[in-house]
Amino acid sequence: MSANPVRLQAITDVEAYVPPAPDFSPEEGPGEIFGSNVFSKTVMQKRLPKSIFKSLMATIEKSEKLDPLVADAVASAMKDWALEKGATHYAHVFYPLTGFTAEKHDGFFDPVGDGTALAEFAGKTLVQGEPDASSFPNGGLRNTFEARGYTGWDATSPAYILENPYGNTLCIPTVFISMTGEALDHKTPLLRAQQAMAIHAERVLRLFGHDPAAVVSYCGPEQEYFLVDRHFFVARPDLLNSGRTLFGAKPPKGQEFDDHYFGAIPARVLAFMADTERELFKLGIPAKTRHNEVAPGQFEVAPMFEAANVGADHQQLLMTTFKTIARKHGMECLFHEKPFEGVNGSGKHVNFSLGNATEGNLLLPGDTPHDNAQFLVFCAAVIRAVHQYGGLLRASVASASNDHRLGANEAPPAIISIFLGDQLAGVFEQLAKGPATSSKGRGTLQIGVDTLPELPTDPGDRNRTSPFAFTGNRFEFRAPGSLQSVAGPMTTINAIMAEALDHIATKLETAVELGAEFNTAVQELLTELITEHGSAVFNGNGYSDEWQAEAAERGLPNLRTTLDALPELISEPAVQLFERYGIFSESESHSRYEIGLEHYTQSIMVEALSTLEIGQTSVLPAAVRYQTELATNVAALKAVGVDADMDLLEEVSAMITDLRTGIGALRTAIHAGHAEDALGEATHAQTALLPAMAVVRAAADGLEAAVADDLWPLPTYQEMLYIL
Ligand code: ADP
Ligand code: MG
Repeated sequence: MSANPVRLQAITDVEAYVPPAPDFSPEEGPGEIFGSNVFSKTVMQKRLPKSIFKSLMATIEKSEKLDPLVADAVASAMKDWALEKGATHYAHVFYPLTGFTAEKHDGFFDPVGDGTALAEFAGKTLVQGEPDASSFPNGGLRNTFEARGYTGWDATSPAYILENPYGNTLCIPTVFISMTGEALDHKTPLLRAQQAMAIHAERVLRLFGHDPAAVVSYCGPEQEYFLVDRHFFVARPDLLNSGRTLFGAKPPKGQEFDDHYFGAIPARVLAFMADTERELFKLGIPAKTRHNEVAPGQFEVAPMFEAANVGADHQQLLMTTFKTIARKHGMECLFHEKPFEGVNGSGKHVNFSLGNATEGNLLLPGDTPHDNAQFLVFCAAVIRAVHQYGGLLRASVASASNDHRLGANEAPPAIISIFLGDQLAGVFEQLAKGPATSSKGRGTLQIGVDTLPELPTDPGDRNRTSPFAFTGNRFEFRAPGSLQSVAGPMTTINAIMAEALDHIATKLETAVELGAEFNTAVQELLTELITEHGSAVFNGNGYSDEWQAEAAERGLPNLRTTLDALPELISEPAVQLFERYGIFSESESHSRYEIGLEHYTQSIMVEALSTLEIGQTSVLPAAVRYQTELATNVAALKAVGVDADMDLLEEVSAMITDLRTGIGALRTAIHAGHAEDALGEATHAQTALLPAMAVVRAAADGLEAAVADDLWPLPTYQEMLYIL
């Protein structure tokens, strides 16, 4: 009986691991390196002719159309800068619907006739690229004979240098669209939705007497993740294939002591964090907060909030950087929402606000009743948006992996409600009784509103169980998963805000046109909005069973799984919303739905195949070896006339039978006849594959607790979670 070498060797290797020495001088402060690899506004101002710079800024800051002459000048300056920074290649970076980042690299140098090479980079090369689109998901948007897709420069997100010891690359953030102009990525709809939201937010601001600068939406993502030693990671084919453990018995010590959250960060992890922050700083990504999370081996990073589009790009870049630097430090960074069953999962809270250069943050309560009236109008827009499109918000975070987390008493439930805090909720409660309040203030300038209490900038109370919570100057959407791009949720938030602000602007414009006094109109509209949409406001415990029942009474959707949520994307109201605001055409909406289904099925299929392989080729052989050892022992005892106890052998044998039955059933489910359409396939994955996997896992986890430790092939939960 040979012991299993892989796992035991991994433990020895982890013990012997020596972390790399820093490859930079810690004296070089963040101030010196911040943005050093970014083709930033400052760099552009230095390197571009004045008129070109001004024209480009108009595109970036006021969404004006890009002048082709400008593109040539920018390309030339960008190329010179990149060559000075040691770049040999440039890449259009885009965000296809795989959820990952894609790059197509091209060399700067073209051979010229005389045997030398010349660096070339024209405006049209900067502005447009043409990667083959056929291997990216398109949800039926494109026939394969028309495989062409285009990348287009997004001037609003800065270009940057990606370092590599073998040569640097100039990276240019781009949108990715089909030949016929349909969005094939996450960035295009976000830019469209942001623009739609801005138009209507500016209408509202004009009604309040401002001459507003362009409104943008801001996004501050909090990223949770796990770190696992690479030695263990490579010995876990399930982590390698699907990003989560498909096997593993609960460790004797879980997170019940609450001793990890905000605890001292292990030295090795701290070194990793310092190293990543340095890399992020070079890229101009403002990493700020870092701390331990609830589960052992779990951590969080939160960069400062930025304009949604830049924040979304930076978030993708952050994940790539974390993966790379973790490997440098002998660890693997896990972004899956639920890498370990029975242990807290990871989310990506999306902090959202909107604002502009002249009025600042529009979700910040002001000092005067007039400011507060405006603040309440924007808050009411959020309430309307969340109430009308809660299902759509839920769909924007739907994935096979996030299903393991939502509603599991560690993340908000699938019911999308909004938390205002006692103070703000009280204000809206008063507003619901509108006429009473307004009569009091009639005749004064800020009718109704000036009778309201002063609003605190920090509401003090926090509600960690709400999926959409007001936190003093922003809303925090807590349902997004750690693996997801924030672009999807931010697109949805901007789209539903566009509708709400459009509605509000139209109502107020009409009232004023009909001769109503503005403050009266505001007061009445707020009353109307809270009366109509107040049922989405919930300040209680979102994890409780009572809330499930109450939410049902209030008519709030409770879309528990991805397959419950995805149809929202093609519901009549959603299709109309996206069409009306130019975010998705009907066919684009349908393609997103199809891609969501396909992605769901593929993720689960990979897990099912991994479960089958590991169950059959790792767990079963270990169990059989142990069974043989026990049988040999029984025979040996009998041979010398000792009374042999058969209990253990029988127990293990029964578990082996269960495992084999489970494996057989899973194999049958995997090979079962394939459904006609994407929905059928996804339903099969949910109703046949997931339960069959659970049976195999239960048997295997039982065996983990019974089989001799030196025979067990897979690194255990306690090893992966506690040895760093
Ligand atoms: P907490 O854990 O208390 O929620 P963190 O500091 O971890 O807070 O993260 C808060 C996130 O919210 C950060 O990314 C921060 O930049 C962001 N944020 C702060 N103010 C705003 C705002 N006005 N709009 C959007 N995001 C914001
Ligand atoms: Mg946080």
